[in-house]
Amino acid sequence: MPILRASLHPAKTLFMDPLALPRPDYSHPYPLGQVYRPVLPTALWPAEQAAESDAVANSEAAAGLKEALPPQPNAFWAQPFRAEPVRMGDFVGATALGGVVNFFDWWLNPHGNGTHTECVGHISKERIVLCDCLTHFAFYADVVTVAPRELPAPAPFSGRDAVVTAADLQAAVQGLTAKLGAAAQSSPALASPARASPPLALVLRTAPEAERRNRHWTGTNAPYVEAAACAWLADQGYDHLLLDLPSVDREADQGLLAAHHAWWRYPHATRMQATITEMIVVPDALPDGRYWLHMQVAQVAMDAAPSNPVLYRLGD
Ligand SMILES: [Zn+2]
Repeated sequence: MPILRASLHPAKTLFMDPLALPRPDYSHPYPLGQVYRPVLPTALWPAEQAAESDAVANSEAAAGLKEALPPQPNAFWAQPFRAEPVRMGDFVGATALGGVVNFFDWWLNPHGNGTHTECVGHISKERIVLCDCLTHFAFYADVVTVAPRELPAPAPFSGRDAVVTAADLQAAVQGLTAKLGAAAQSSPALASPARASPPLALVLRTAPEAERRNRHWTGTNAPYVEAAACAWLADQGYDHLLLDLPSVDREADQGLLAAHHAWWRYPHATRMQATITEMIVVPDALPDGRYWLHMQVAQVAMDAAPSNPVLYRLGD
């Protein structure tokens, strides 16, 4: 689409009014299956920006989908992702085995096999599916880094847990916001209303990439997020939380799922539009800051679906 790109580029205008996204009107969601194209056609991204995109999906999870081979990340004792060619009579759905096409069955658990996005349907008694909740796919997103703290495990558990505390998360978010505010003083583009307004998505990095990619979390009592931190993020107006951990809650918590409930305010004031994306990997080369997030999610009518969130650097 070179013509479109030529007419909508230059980069200087790219991040001003044409992309000054109002907060999505969730009361009028786009019909299922209709991508929210008017806001962020990929052709609008200049090539050099697109080239600088960083997938924050745990790519081996996506790769798990590509190859069905180890290494794959894993959590919550889920069976590994696997794919097998269909066999019917003489037919075999694998060209490597002499078939005419590749035609595989898959076995997948989105919560345990890699990067996935989930909606309140993950914890609700009612059947609620992600493709009804996530109807907008492009947002500003802030990336913050917060190391979990070692704290005593909550009763009745013993030992110590690694926890992202509300205080630490709040300090990181407020620190970044202040930094962006100061930068906006010196750049009109950064001061544009869209750039200056709080983003809808927060990407939480808790460790370097190498400690998160293809991690086998099952049975490790993975780090988690304090419920008060999720409540605070919801209060700030964030709708999408992405993190490099297998869950916002403790691996074993007697079914409490306190952070999930705090985030979605379920069941009393449920935030239907809110999502959590778990088991991402944030590239080390990507500093804390504000980005464009493109949420690529398989449209599966379930509580969660494999996803491939991609962050784009913003121009100056
Ligand atoms: Zn999950």
